Formats: sequence, structure tokens, C-alpha cells
Amino acid sequence: NRKIILAERPKGAPDENTLKLETEAVPQPGKGEMLLRTVWLSLDPYMRGRMSDAKSYATPVEIGGVMTGQVVAEVMESDVAGFSKGDYVLSPSGWQDFFVSDGTQVLNLGPEPENPSWALGILGMPGYTAYAGLLKIGEPKPGETVVVAAASGPVGATVGQIAKIKGCRVVGVAGGAEKCAHVTDTLGFDACIDHRAEDFDEQLAAACPDGIDVYFENVGGKVLYGVLPLLNPFARMPVCGMVAWYNLQGLPEGPDHGPQILSTILRMKVKVQGFIIFDSFPIELYQEFSEAMTGWLKEGKVQYKEQVVEGLEAAPQGLYDLLEGRNFGKMVVKVG
Ligand code: NDP
Repeated sequence: NRKIILAERPKGAPDENTLKLETEAVPQPGKGEMLLRTVWLSLDPYMRGRMSDAKSYATPVEIGGVMTGQVVAEVMESDVAGFSKGDYVLSPSGWQDFFVSDGTQVLNLGPEPENPSWALGILGMPGYTAYAGLLKIGEPKPGETVVVAAASGPVGATVGQIAKIKGCRVVGVAGGAEKCAHVTDTLGFDACIDHRAEDFDEQLAAACPDGIDVYFENVGGKVLYGVLPLLNPFARMPVCGMVAWYNLQGLPEGPDHGPQILSTILRMKVKVQGFIIFDSFPIELYQEFSEAMTGWLKEGKVQYKEQVVEGLEAAPQGLYDLLEGRNFGKMVVKVG
């Protein structure tokens, strides 16, 4: 069994000393347990948070512990009711080839799911994050302007496409011309601005002639600062993530934007609400999402792009790339 463990807590950006590959014997399932073999491992920005022991909503990975991660796995042998050899499952196995489970927090996807890896993306956590955060906190109305960054990634791409379905003007923000072209041409956003452009603020303002009604916050940093002056009265801001700041150690250099942020929230009466997808919404909403998204995918109303990383040993570099924007689409590792 190959597994990737947290060797040390990174200071700033993680590097080659952060995660290490180790090998051990394949674990053996006992009574009431099953053996799962990982097929797909999901890479997600939250994993940077699990490397840190700062106070958060989840416990960090221990030094020497297997990195946290959702996987799609195949059941190799099973003594758990409801799971048979050959079933595919969604499991919190972590970054490793094999995992012994008693079925806790494992979802059965059946023997032949059509696109098994989609359970880690558009039909799973990131897709649901976009759906719930946008519709329940963002509350977009037809004709309103919605802005979302990391627009080619699984959350941002889904936010924008749902907002289009709801009749909004949608402006994405992404890193580079290729991603921006994908966001407008394939995903159907009305505009997409490259956050690396020198005149980013001006370009964003030009793309939002009627201001911004919903800013779905994925990144923070200069995108947030460009958005603030454009927010309309009673704008909504679901705060989903701030990947631009995940590697910060302490406060950033430069001017203090605190007064600008809070005074905008006050003057424009902005609703700002953070959420963590697994405990912020009623459980019934997941079923609603699942049905809606399956339908949109079938009808071709939602497009989905994955980037496949080959092999468990390539997963650490994959995550570091993701945190720096060197991914294009939902990052998944093909493990077995
Ligand atoms: P992505 O696959 O989109 O990857 C992150 C992207 O962030 C990168 O590809 C990059 O895209 C962009 N990015 C990185 N640094 C910067 C920067 N300095 N400025 C602007 N953009 C940057 O991620 P996901 O779709 O999986 O997640 C998006 C966000 O949602 C993250 O913040 C994540 O933590 C959050 N999230 C929150 C959840 C919750 O429960 N609250 C659940 C799931 C996700 P580009 O090259 O286009 O800039």
C-alpha cells in the first residue's frame, strides 16, 4: 500500500519536504469491514488548510498521518451490508492505494457508474458548493450581475453556469487567456477577465456596467479589491474560499483594506455570509442539487472539465500546482 503522509507543516507554500510517499503492507479487513482500492483521488484547495494546525472548522492532519482526501474506490472484498465486491464508492480514504472501512461516510455509487470521477467534482462536493452557496446565499435574480473568480475551476465554473441558467449576466475571473476563452466560449459566461492583467480593475468595471449584485468569493486578494467599488446596494457575497491567501503567514504587506471592506459592506448594505459546505445547509438540499445537476448535465446546460494527474506519486505536485492556478479544470488523480 502506497500512502502519502504529511511529513512537516509548510511555512508559506508547501514544497518537496511537505508530503512524503511511504509504502506498507496492504491492510486486511476484519469482520464488518471492507477493503477499498482507490481509483480516483480528488485534489482540492481545502487540503492546504489541513496541513496547518491553525484553528479551523476541521482537525488538521497529524504529522506522519495520511493526507486527507475524498476518493472514488472499488470494493475489493466486503463484509459490510449494502456493499459488494465490484461496487464503486465515494470514500474518505485519503491519499493511499488501499483503505479498510466499516462503511462510515462511504456512499455506494453502484457497480458501473457512468463517470465515476464526477462524484468528486460536478456531481459531488465542488458542484454542491457552487449550487448551495450561489442559490441559498447569493440568491441571484434574473438580470442581475454575478461575478465569480477561479472561474475555470469546478466551483467557479459551476457557479457561473448555474447563474446563467437563472438568467443572470455572468462575469468570470481567471488566470490567463486560455482559461478565459474556455470560460466564455465553452461555459457561456458573458465575459471573463484575466486577474493578472495590469488594468484588471478597469476591465472588471467595463464588464459590469450595471455594477455587481452577487460576488461569489473564491479567492480574495486583488479580485476582491476590484469588486468592492462595483458592489450594488443590497449585494450578496457568499464567502466560499480565499485561495489567494491560503499560503499567507500572518498579514500581507501593503495598505490595510479593512476600512474599505467594512465601509462598503455598511454603505452598500451587503450581505456577507461564509459557509462550509458539509454543515451549512439542510441535508435535503443535497438531493435537490443532485437531481438538478444530473438533469442539466444530460441536457448539455452544464459543461464540465477535468484535469487528470497520472499516479499517486504525482499527487503532491498536483496540489501545489492547483494552489498556484496551474490547473485547468477539476483536478483528479488517477491512482489505480
Ligand atoms: P480550483 O480548481 O478553481 O483551484 C483554485 C484556483 O484558484 C486556481 O486554479 C486559480 O485559478 C485560482 N487562484 C489561485 N491563486 C489565485 C489568486 N492569487 N488570485 C486569483 N485566483 C487565484 O478550486 P475549486 O473550484 O475546487 O475551489 C474554489 C474555491 O472554493 C477555493 O477557495 C476553495 O477553497 C473553495 N471551496 C470552499 C468550500 C466551502 O465549503 N466553503 C468547498 C469547496 C471549495 P486561476 O488560474 O483562474 O486564477
